[in-house]
Amino acid sequence: MPRLVSHPDEVKITSRRFGLGATDIEKYIALDGYKAVQAAIAKGPEWIIAEMKASGLRGRGGAGFPTGLKWSFVPKQSEKPKYVLVNGDESEPGTCKDHLIFLYDPHAVIEGTMIAGIAIGAKLGFIYLRGEYRYLLKIMEKAVADAYAKGFLGKNIFGSGIDFDVVTQTGAGAYEVGEESALMESLEGKRGVPRIKPPFPAVVGLYGGPTVINNAETIASVPHIMLMGGEAYAKLGTERNGGTRLFGISGHVERPGVYELPMGYNLKKAIYDVAGGIRGGKKLKAVVPGGSSTPVMTADEIDVGLDFDQMGKAGTMLGSGGIVVLDETVCIVEFALRTIQFYQHESCGWCIPCREGTDWLKKSIGRLHAGGAVDKDIDNIRYLAENMLGRTFCPLGDAAAMPTIGFVQKFRKEFEDHLNGKGCPYKHAREEEAALV
Ligand code: SF4
Repeated sequence: MPRLVSHPDEVKITSRRFGLGATDIEKYIALDGYKAVQAAIAKGPEWIIAEMKASGLRGRGGAGFPTGLKWSFVPKQSEKPKYVLVNGDESEPGTCKDHLIFLYDPHAVIEGTMIAGIAIGAKLGFIYLRGEYRYLLKIMEKAVADAYAKGFLGKNIFGSGIDFDVVTQTGAGAYEVGEESALMESLEGKRGVPRIKPPFPAVVGLYGGPTVINNAETIASVPHIMLMGGEAYAKLGTERNGGTRLFGISGHVERPGVYELPMGYNLKKAIYDVAGGIRGGKKLKAVVPGGSSTPVMTADEIDVGLDFDQMGKAGTMLGSGGIVVLDETVCIVEFALRTIQFYQHESCGWCIPCREGTDWLKKSIGRLHAGGAVDKDIDNIRYLAENMLGRTFCPLGDAAAMPTIGFVQKFRKEFEDHLNGKGCPYKHAREEEAALV
């Protein structure tokens, strides 16, 4: 079991049942479970969507699209069945929040899926977990079976005349499937590559039917919003960024873990107060603020609020909420190499700028790190990454290019330090660090 952390600045909404035994359906019910779906049934789809819009909840997967608005795009009438699809393909390096939801509060995912279904008029929801989360599938499957046994799922739920079923599924372990259209392809049993958009899933989605796709944290937040009211939830965060969010703080901090903080919480405070500061009293070098695809921040750029808009203004992104903290012992070139190795490995190969670009970036940064590069390699790396931006079929190309550009832009000196056959000047610091662990 992962160690649960806590800090007085946390506002526990989505995480409030973590560690309280809520995988047991009776315990979940005792902790207000399945009350929200009953309220949603009583008040109806328009009320649900109005509350969701009022909540200011924006997609917690990383894109930050307003959830209520997304649900409102689904046509009321449809010849084809409508679906709810929960994206639990949490694969962004540095991100480990959704797995805690599946582990500690699986019924919240089921209840949120049901409410989304009632809002859009769907009768079937899918909960899709990443392949590496196969061990969590047992927990989700048991929760679904318990909900059926109680009569909460299936025909005529809560005597409403509404039928709603939930199916669980895992992937085969591909980062690319976190992209919503690739997720639908995978769920349909095909190779997990993205679809051409438009049409968007709200109109033509899973099996050709209108589909709402939301991240697991987004969906698990829905029952709480129904119970506390959209406005009250919105007030916890900042303007246009309602509520709270699970932030996973990892890397070189004293107290790594997943913390639920109000949207807009200061990043510097999150690192120094909530996560206890830099491990071993070392100096902070850099922060990757929202999973590996978000542009790096230097130590003097982190006095900024953690919401989609403030992070955008700071030249980076809130992303998946996975904050990776790097101390002075880290070689940024090596970190850039590890990052691009991941994206090169995960590129589905569908489009050339991503397939070739990630490969060339891996080779070029690898050569630089090993000490065999020439001066122009640094500009070539940046040029290559800039030419991938916006030219790929799905966001993975941008996800690989953006951090690379950021590393070269903000830590050029470290790239230069690797030139002229010198190799990595930080090797010594890393070896000392490794000896201490
Ligand atoms: Fe595949 Fe990369 Fe193109 Fe996305 S950007 S479709 S992952 S090759």
